Amino acid sequence: MSERSTTTPLSQQPDADILILGAGPAGMLCALTAARRAKENKTPREILLVDQDRTPARKLRASGGGRCNCTNQNASPEHYISANPRFTAQALKRLPPAQFLNLLQGLGLSASQEDQGKMFCDQGAEALALALEKACRKAGCRFLLGRPVVGVIPPKEKGGLFTVDTHHGPLFAPRVVLALGSPAWPALGGGDAIARLAGQLGLTHIPARPALTPLVLSGPELQLARELTGLSVTSRLSLNAESACGGVAITDSLLFTHQGLSGPAALRLSSYWRKGEPISIDLAPEADVPALLRQPGRGKALARTILSELMPRRLVEARLAALPKEFAARALGDRRIAELSRVEMDALANIVREWRITPRTTAGMAQAEAASGGLDTDAFSPKTLQCKTIPGLFALGEALDVAGDLGGYNLHWAWASGYAAGHAL
Ligand SMILES: Cc1cc2nc3c(=O)[nH]c(=O)nc-3n(C[C@H](O)[C@H](O)[C@H](O)COP(=O)(O)OP(=O)(O)OC[C@H]3O[C@@H](n4cnc5c(N)ncnc54)[C@H](O)[C@@H]3O)c2cc1C
Repeated sequence: MSERSTTTPLSQQPDADILILGAGPAGMLCALTAARRAKENKTPREILLVDQDRTPARKLRASGGGRCNCTNQNASPEHYISANPRFTAQALKRLPPAQFLNLLQGLGLSASQEDQGKMFCDQGAEALALALEKACRKAGCRFLLGRPVVGVIPPKEKGGLFTVDTHHGPLFAPRVVLALGSPAWPALGGGDAIARLAGQLGLTHIPARPALTPLVLSGPELQLARELTGLSVTSRLSLNAESACGGVAITDSLLFTHQGLSGPAALRLSSYWRKGEPISIDLAPEADVPALLRQPGRGKALARTILSELMPRRLVEARLAALPKEFAARALGDRRIAELSRVEMDALANIVREWRITPRTTAGMAQAEAASGGLDTDAFSPKTLQCKTIPGLFALGEALDVAGDLGGYNLHWAWASGYAAGHAL
């Protein structure tokens, strides 16, 4: 690979036909698709992947706690947050989950389905990252690793070359793909490169916000979460109808932690929650709590016994202890159901169905599995992922204003966008 200084524009020679900035899942699948297509069409293409890291795809390697929730059988635009909710449709249609599983098989790997359509790679995240890198190299793609990208300058005239500035000198190519991810989880390489490049390129960037990140509690609620650390219950978390994302309600498992709430329910709600908003939590969403409390023949049972049939005992005790003062004094948990007034019964039902909390904050980008925001999709073709105003420039994956739900949707978007652009390059 030749090293040039920025002062040699007259002797510019392309370093590759296609420069893919970012060797994450989106960049690598794009490279592999473009290389295979070029081979089929007998039009050889030099493809160079550039990454700041010496190890490509660090987020992919850590995905799903190392198990890699690589796709979801239900992948469709409704599972993505974007200012343009239909933007993902064409790329998702082009690479449905079944076709991604064929690609996976072609890499010598397989996946198995778990709950809610989630597919996990049987050989794990590391194996998938390695297989993808190996397949790219076998298809003739080259990697330039440990090379942070700091700038992208479009060609001055039609048919000219992009200049990609890196810490070790510029690179030149007629086509450039932005696959640099998002600021989520900086310890795994997340950063703000896309926001900076958008400014240089004159593209609109929607400010990034952490998504799929834990909720941090304070005061008595934090105390309660700490006491229950490690406990997980299926719950329904919802935001007020009047809130910015009113109407959002998520039923999934909720995990108590030393800093507050995590698990799929809290992570998924965090993508919508805004600071200061209260969250309403139903700790037994599948149960008709008032009916259970009034079951015929159970009048002699203690209230806490019946509540313990709905949720773990530790949680029952914690919620009983948090009853409003007027009820706490009446020791509702120790009383028989038949002795309780209607108001007392309602108070008991509410400790299960209506736990209202206002998180202090979220764990932010540091623990966010994804980020919403990114390059405004209005500037890109939903079919080819090519920029409408800068021909030859493409953007993929989390670099774009597309954030998926928990469950394999983010990786599926990385694959689908990489695959669509790989066909168009
Ligand atoms: C802990 C964790 C677990 C996750 N688990 C799952 C899961 O199980 N299922 C799922 O669907 N999603 C999961 N995700 C989300 C998923 O990993 C991302 O959505 C996906 O990796 C995005 O792919 P990408 O290629 O767009 O970006 P990235 O994977 O972020 O890749 C971007 C690449 O660009 C490089 N780069 C960044 N800046 C520069 C620069 N300035 N110069 C050069 N190179 C640069 C980075 O080093 C990186 O290699 C998880 C995320 C995290 C953090």
